Amino acid sequence: MTVNRRTLLTRLGGLAGLGAAAAAAPALAAPLTPELERRLSLCQPAGDPLEELLRRNRRFSTIWQEASSQHDTRRRADRLAQVWNGGCQLNPRALDAGQRPWAALLGCADSRVPPDWLFASGPGELFEVRSAGNTAADSCVASLEYAVAELHVPLILVLGHSGCGAVGAALGLGALTPLLTDLVRPIRAALPAGAPLDEAVRLNAAAAAAALPQRSAVLREAVGAGRLRVVAAVFEISSGLVSLV
Ligand SMILES: [Zn+2]
Repeated sequence: MTVNRRTLLTRLGGLAGLGAAAAAAPALAAPLTPELERRLSLCQPAGDPLEELLRRNRRFSTIWQEASSQHDTRRRADRLAQVWNGGCQLNPRALDAGQRPWAALLGCADSRVPPDWLFASGPGELFEVRSAGNTAADSCVASLEYAVAELHVPLILVLGHSGCGAVGAALGLGALTPLLTDLVRPIRAALPAGAPLDEAVRLNAAAAAAALPQRSAVLREAVGAGRLRVVAAVFEISSGLVSLV
């Protein structure tokens, strides 16, 4: 089945706050003029977006590790701020008129794993979807459908991380509320009993990456047409490095 734009809008109409807008307007993302497209694409990598994410992360990791041994808070802040030095920042006026992100992430809500920082990216570069345990929950899948169908993002990186509390909870390491039990259910389903936390984080990221095209016809068609890659990776907090799973 071909998933056209109307189908996507119908699906996204289920998202809170988007229903009325989707019904009233044919487009969720306004078309870009050639000049605006050019201005919004100035920070896009010339080559493989995945390689660019990993290249930027290696630089982040170096600074992150150097900052770890800096005990003076001001000097540590100065060093960490250098993550963005020499990078590309889009014009706020262009961003006011539209967006053309070149990668999307499904990451954990954990306070230690902000994608803009790990990948030294400015506003308008990364389309970020976050939930505890980087699960492919309905709202996350719908958001990524929007990124792919409307914003033409060519890459989704599912990013787990070391010490993930949600994955730990799925392994039965903590007490859960009913809603949290629902949240970790898909994580739990992807893990063998007794898996060590590090292994469980990798398995969960891989399972979420596999689930995206399985659960979404929009994403599945984009992958099938060669317009989209879905890749799993893990961020190691101690080293600052992102490794593909
Ligand atoms: Zn986490």
